[in-house]
Amino acid sequence: MRARVLEILAASPQPLGAYDLIEHIAEKGARRPAPITVYRALDFLLGQGLAHKIESRNAFVACDHAHGHADVVVFLLCGRCGAAVEASGAEIGGLLADVAAKAGFSARGQFVEIAGECAACRRATAL
Ligand SMILES: [Zn+2]
Ligand SMILES: [Zn+2]
Repeated sequence: MRARVLEILAASPQPLGAYDLIEHIAEKGARRPAPITVYRALDFLLGQGLAHKIESRNAFVACDHAHGHADVVVFLLCGRCGAAVEASGAEIGGLLADVAAKAGFSARGQFVEIAGECAACRRATAL
């Protein structure tokens, strides 16, 4: 199940919610998995750093970047096509860590979401 969920996420340019994943699995002729089964697989993938959750969309993306757990992950979210691209936040990691530390906050992960329009959609609208 973990491998299948990861495979589906990796093949999708858009982030997928747990119920999207269930539909994908059912479409491929497999038995419709129970939501708890999919959530467990997602928890595992998140824990391993193989996937990320995009909080604002309550959806998940595969991650094939070999970054550390503490690294900042920047998501570029296209409001037009729904694509989510992961960008490196290495340059701002220290700044964000300082912000958290000054507030006495212990960060579990650092995620930044940037909403806008992706390069492909901008090209399409410029034509
Ligand atoms: Zn990542
Ligand atoms: Zn787009």
